[in-house]
Amino acid sequence: MKKGNINVSVENIFPLIKKFLYSDHEIFLRELISNATDATLKLKHIASLGKEKIELGNPVIEVKVDKKSKKIHIIDQGIGMTADEIEKYINEVAFSGAEEFLEKYKDSAKDSGIIGHFGLGFYSAFMVAKKVEIISKSYKNKPSAHWTCDGSPNYTLDKGNKKDRGTEIILHIDKDSKEFLEENKISELLSKYNKFMPIPIKFGTKEETLPLEKDAKEGDKPKTKTVDNIINNPNPAWTKQPKDLNDDDYKGFYRELYPMQFEEPLFNIHLNVDYPFNLTGILYFPKLTNDVNIQKDKIQLYQNQVFVTDNVEGIVPEFLTLLRGVIDSPDIPLNVSRSYLQADGAVKKISAYITRKVADKLASLFKNDREGFEKKWNDIKIVIEYGMLSEEKFFEKSEKFALYPTVDDKYYTYEELYNKIKAKQTDKDEKLVILYSSDKQSQHSYIENAKNKGYEVLLLDSPIVSHLIQKLESSKEKIQFSRVDSDHIDNLISKDKNKISKLNDEQIKKLEELVKTVVNDEKFVIKLESMDSNENPFIITNPEFMRRMKEMQQSGGGGGMFGAGNMPEMFNLVVNTNSDLISQILNTKTKKKQERLISQSLDLAKLSHGLLNGEELTNFIKRSFEIIK
Ligand code: ADP
Repeated sequence: MKKGNINVSVENIFPLIKKFLYSDHEIFLRELISNATDATLKLKHIASLGKEKIELGNPVIEVKVDKKSKKIHIIDQGIGMTADEIEKYINEVAFSGAEEFLEKYKDSAKDSGIIGHFGLGFYSAFMVAKKVEIISKSYKNKPSAHWTCDGSPNYTLDKGNKKDRGTEIILHIDKDSKEFLEENKISELLSKYNKFMPIPIKFGTKEETLPLEKDAKEGDKPKTKTVDNIINNPNPAWTKQPKDLNDDDYKGFYRELYPMQFEEPLFNIHLNVDYPFNLTGILYFPKLTNDVNIQKDKIQLYQNQVFVTDNVEGIVPEFLTLLRGVIDSPDIPLNVSRSYLQADGAVKKISAYITRKVADKLASLFKNDREGFEKKWNDIKIVIEYGMLSEEKFFEKSEKFALYPTVDDKYYTYEELYNKIKAKQTDKDEKLVILYSSDKQSQHSYIENAKNKGYEVLLLDSPIVSHLIQKLESSKEKIQFSRVDSDHIDNLISKDKNKISKLNDEQIKKLEELVKTVVNDEKFVIKLESMDSNENPFIITNPEFMRRMKEMQQSGGGGGMFGAGNMPEMFNLVVNTNSDLISQILNTKTKKKQERLISQSLDLAKLSHGLLNGEELTNFIKRSFEIIK
């Protein structure tokens, strides 16, 4: 037997590394299974070259938990190692790698700048084990070797008695890691990290039901057979070519990824590049409405089919983090901080590529099946609108698929919208204004009024819509957006209509004073206008610009620079001097009666703008009952 001292300069680095990696102890299993996978893939490769005689068989990796003797075994049938190779790869390479890692991250580990994925390899076994054994037999015709190490820099290396090719790693689990001796825990880890690794992984056995035999009688129970419990799918959908997959394959893979997700995805995007970086994956657009799993079911990042994380911030553009699916790339550096990741050139390219692929997919969906796309719009608009706001490239591309629906479920692209308004324009100085509503219910009377006058009204009801409109107006500069209740329609569309007032100057002055005394509220700017006589006598509007700035500030960013946050709420009270009611008010004999009529009208206007509540509402109802009595 050979005894030796591992050549590390730090006296005892095990306790140190244990402490640093405390929160991520569980990755040991992923690392050891990755090594076993690599060893098997290497053997497959050598066999495929055909120079050496290798009985490949159907190699599997086996994980065994021996709770009684507190051991975990990881057994592979890969290339194995000779004693010399253990010296070289384990004693020298693995340990010096670990030491190097420690040196590098000694300081940054403290500020939690490192993410928990180090590629620490074999060494991570010591995070959970007080002693580790390697029993290995190389595919070369050499005796097997048996290595042990108890977590100090001392090791022993002896002849082993392993007959068949491959490596067995035995972990003697430390008492403070005994959770890993629970089968459930190991099962959970295997399905978290190893579900799609390329070599079959066996963990225990299971009963499989056999089909009934031909001569089976009624009531016969089907026979069962004990088979290996293979926990992974070695050929997940994203590793295949899009041309070899159909719609059901994609849906099936979605269920594999998110077994608890019962809603089907709306559509998927297959990612597949090999230059200038390597990336494969499948992204799914889920139905986002009322989904409680939004936080739980995230995009998963893999590296060569090994799960790394489901925190893809920095790699996938933020607006796409609401999507689901998988991305797999060996080119994403993992042992770096998030801020480094965001500055990394390759990662930036990956993010830009994903954005472009998503935009292209949306454009092709729109082009090939516009009706189907319109039906999905409500479920996907939040992602698209957010993307238009946050990624300039995506904004440019969105011209081809971003939709603007009307309150009556018609859908326009920006270009179509523009052409439609343009066609209606009678005077070239007339502004091209499109009306929109943010809420069909509360703006109902305004919508109706606009529709009655022949205007189309969009329904733009997502929470970020004021930001989006601001962006559209400033970058496209063709159409102006105005909410249905932001001004009186005739004013919005054409300012200079010839209006004839029924009232003379003196009457107007008198009316203005009357209204002022009754309203007596600085929130309302009173505007007397001569409109059609059948229009409502009192209309409350909320100027577009002010309201939008306020909204933008409330939802973050934007209007702040205009100082709109501190602005008091302001409304216009438009009084239609041509309405019959106004004439009636002016002709009413007593001042008291006049004021009563104005109060009642004002309350009705407030009611239709959703502004009447509390004591005012109570008084209004009382007064109304009085009137109809
Ligand atoms: P890495 O896998 O990043 O190279 P590790 O510390 O995990 O680093 O392993 C060091 C080396 O030990 C590997 O490169 C490999 O040559 C060898 N090795 C580890 N595990 C196995 C195994 N199960 N079978 C064969 N060789 C192995």
